[in-house]
Amino acid sequence: MRKTVKSDKKPPGHQQDFIAYVFTLIPADPPERAIRLRRQIMAVYSYCLLWVGTIIGVELSAFAPDTPHLTIFAVLFAINLVFYLLIRSGLSERLGDPSLTILQMATGIILTTVILHYTRELRGAMLSIYFMVMTFGIFALDRRRQMAMAGFTLLCFTALQVYEWIETPQQAIFSFLIGHWIILALILCWFIYMGGYIHNLQNRVRDQRENLRDAHRRLKAIAVRDDLTGLYNRRHFLERLEEELSLANRNHTPLYLAIIDLDHFKQVNDNYGHHSGDEVLSRFARIASQSLRKSDLLARYGGEEFVVLFPHASEAASEAALERLRSQFAEQGYDFAPQLHTTFSAGLTAFHEGETADQLTKRADTALYEAKSRGRNRIAKLP
Ligand code: GH3
Ligand code: MG
Ligand code: MG
Repeated sequence: MRKTVKSDKKPPGHQQDFIAYVFTLIPADPPERAIRLRRQIMAVYSYCLLWVGTIIGVELSAFAPDTPHLTIFAVLFAINLVFYLLIRSGLSERLGDPSLTILQMATGIILTTVILHYTRELRGAMLSIYFMVMTFGIFALDRRRQMAMAGFTLLCFTALQVYEWIETPQQAIFSFLIGHWIILALILCWFIYMGGYIHNLQNRVRDQRENLRDAHRRLKAIAVRDDLTGLYNRRHFLERLEEELSLANRNHTPLYLAIIDLDHFKQVNDNYGHHSGDEVLSRFARIASQSLRKSDLLARYGGEEFVVLFPHASEAASEAALERLRSQFAEQGYDFAPQLHTTFSAGLTAFHEGETADQLTKRADTALYEAKSRGRNRIAKLP
């Protein structure tokens, strides 16, 4: 949202951009505002059609010859210009109804009533203009508001009929008055019923779309994580590794990779059960997450193997981080076996520009093998 406000206030230095912006009828940004403006233009287009219809009606004597259509539509377009400016400037967003739907509909209903005053035989047919106006409310207004607008329509039409009855009783035909009134009321009832239904349907579709988006977000988060430890999984790590390697190649920045393997982990499983083994893995994950920096990429590589990628780090810093983690892990105590001390071995190596992820991990693996063969619970380095 904020971004759009920014784009509204282009710096005055960009004079050409600014002029182009001023003369753009519907700026694309912000998108919600663009939708509102498009709806506004649609309303003006409908009024243009209505104006043409009125002119033809006057020519064909279906309307009173003194119909002041020029004045009526001039006022109407002036009001619509104000609506346009309110929406376009974003001022309407400070009001409760940013599309100004209720105001626009009220204007349309009043206009229709004024036009109806000048209709003769066409009055029955011209009642349909009220429904054109009501259509605008279907998507934007809930049933309660649609009912209020229908009530307003009926009120305006009743006022017109009463006015005409008082002004020119000799021209008013009672059965026509009542007939028109009843038809209008019935169709408005149908509109409220149908409009409410469509509005609810639209809300349901919107909710479902939100739920789907939510589920997609959650699935995406789950897909990159390992179930047991909550760390990133191997697939995600390998994807990120490729990205980090191309960054390091492009920017000539250093990168270190460590592969960590818990020592004699099979014995933990054998002596205390698989469940206890899981607890050790989770414990390692927790302390490693806390101990390493946010910028270090930690993942479960598989089984009791983990990887850490240190971007922008020096060898000394990477090694220090691993050493700190190694001593923290060795100090852990476990409820299921108070005498148990867990350790890990790690292989650390530097990224050589131009090499593949496979070459890099193989070298880290070789370093790890060396750490294991030198007695475990240690970190071995390969340049
Ligand atoms: P070394 O010091 O040489 O690494 O010995 P090690 O026993 O750790 O290595 P080995 O590869 O022989 O055993 C790894 C064990 O880790 C075997 C496997 O059952 C166990 N393991 C792998 N994944 C899991 C897991 O998710 N949970 C548990 N509890 N155990 C696991
Ligand atoms: Mg292993
Ligand atoms: Mg192991």
